[in-house]
Formats: sequence, structure tokens, C-alpha cells
Amino acid sequence: MKLTTTLLASMLAALAFSVQSEELNLYSARHYQTDEALYADFTRQTGIKINRIEGKEDELLERIKNEGSNSPADIFLTVDAARLAKAHELGLFAPVTSKSLETRIPAHLRTEDWFAFSTRARVIVYNKASVTAEDVQNYSDLANPKLKGKFCSRSGSHPYNLSLMSSVIAHDGEAKAEAWAKGMVANFARAPKGGDTDQIKAVSAGECGVTISNTYYVARLMRSTKESDQKIMEKVSVIWPNQSTTGTHVNVSGGGLLKTAPNKKAAVKFLEYLASDDAQRYFADGNNEWPAVDSVKVANPALDKLGKFKADKIPVNNLAMYQAKAQIIFDRAGFK
Ligand code: FE
Repeated sequence: MKLTTTLLASMLAALAFSVQSEELNLYSARHYQTDEALYADFTRQTGIKINRIEGKEDELLERIKNEGSNSPADIFLTVDAARLAKAHELGLFAPVTSKSLETRIPAHLRTEDWFAFSTRARVIVYNKASVTAEDVQNYSDLANPKLKGKFCSRSGSHPYNLSLMSSVIAHDGEAKAEAWAKGMVANFARAPKGGDTDQIKAVSAGECGVTISNTYYVARLMRSTKESDQKIMEKVSVIWPNQSTTGTHVNVSGGGLLKTAPNKKAAVKFLEYLASDDAQRYFADGNNEWPAVDSVKVANPALDKLGKFKADKIPVNNLAMYQAKAQIIFDRAGFK
């Protein structure tokens, strides 16, 4: 009897071991509460355990680089095409061939080795008392001398602005892009500082008249239950830029399989899972973004309130292509 119990126990242990043996090491620069549910759901569906290393975007990239071929990382998830492009340039990603990823993620939202899983737009936010809507319909308007002393922004070295500049270079060429950067600098209300939310606050307070912000910061303030945030939003209005031309600039959050990944099979399964209906909903909604997969819809009251818009469908690869040029142009223009 004792022997049988011992045998049974060891068999159960072996079974448990074989079930748990599949693991996945995820390096993620995303820190949203809904991501927890997402990872738990993946483990429930596949039996693959996720070990998560979280960190700041640039630190994680540095860490993967330094760990080299010894890195335990299988997947790198981060925000902005600029950072994903950097990981690609460093040769950190491995190409992934997956029918389901190719079918579900639209062609303009993937590259040979990384995939976008959610999108965010870069919009114009203006103070309703000091700027008129007609004057800020396009990104190019931000360089109009009419807005002298009214424009504020986060740094020209920040990936969000670099990716926007990359799209402008792709559409209009370098010369026009540089003239645009110089025009914006001439319109500065103050030297660049802070993040997008800080700019919205400054616009609301009348310190500036107009800024650019990612949509999820706008949505976050709109959905905030804090009275102070609601007061901030009462004074400002939001424009979808470039609706009669190229469409509003769209950036992404996404990731890819790392070249040195020890658990490649599990990693590809995870990427495919991220493109599934449920995962897409969680992934996008956790940060007030839109799913990359067209057929997946999220009900986000703030984003719905901002209304429908024409998005710039420029391939994310093109945004990646002009990052270095974008930085040179911002530097030459004095857009610090
Ligand atoms: Fe952000």
C-alpha cells in the first residue's frame, strides 16, 4: 500500500513536471493591469508558464543586448515603432513564419521580424479659448506663424515625436520636414519638457495654446474620475490631424521573437495568442488603444467619443526607416 502511494506520488510529480516544463521568458515594457489577465489566460490555454521581466523600454533593450547569446529572453514587447526598429537594427529579433500572424495582423502593421499588436494615434490638442479649430487641422499648421508662442511639446528626441517626424519625411521629403520642424521651434511657448500629459495640462492652463499627444493619454484624462482631470479636459479640444490629406499618424505597441530565444516554439505560440480575439481586446483596452486586428472591436467610451478618423496607413517599416533622419532634422532645427 505504501509503495503504491509513493509510486502514485512520483508519477503525479513527473506529470506535473512535464506539464510545467514549458516556459516562456517575456521581457515587457508594458505594465498594465489587464496584461495580468492576458498572461494568465495564455497559461490556462497552453499550459506554458510565463516568466515576466518588466522594465523601462530602453533599459530592457539594453539588457537584452548585454545578455547577448546567454539571454533567457524569448519575447521582447515594447511601445513605439522607433524602439521596435532599434531592436531590429541591433539584430535582436528573429524572423517568424506564422500563417495566423500573417492573416490576422494587417500587412502595414508588421515587418519581417516584429509585429504590432495595438495602435495609438498622435492627435492635436488645443485650448478652446486661445486657438481656433480651423488653425490646427493639420500637423503642418503647427509651424504656421499664426501660432507663434503657442506651441508646446515633449522632447524632439522622444520616440513618439521621432516616429511622427519619420512619417512626415516619408510623405513630404526631408526639406519640407525640416522647414516644419523649424516652424514648430519658432512657435514654442516654452522649451520642450515633460510627457504628453504635461503638455495637455499646460494647454488647459493656458501656458500654451496647442500640443500633440498620443490618444491614450487623452483617453486616460477623459475617463478619469478625478475632478481636476475633468476640469483639464473641459478647456481643451481634440483634432484628428491630416484628415483631408495623409490621415492621422498612427504608432504601435508590439513585439517579436528574439534571436537567442531558448523557448522558440512557446514564444511563437505566445505571439499568435496575442493576435487572438480575446488577447487583442485585453491588450488594446488596457491602455486605451485600438487592436491591430481589424475584426476585433473594443468598446472604449473615451475613444468612441473622439469619433471615427482616417488613419495614415503608412507601413510601420517606413516609420522605422527614417528614425535616424528624424533625429538629425529635429537637432538641426533646435527641437530639443
Ligand atoms: Fe506613452
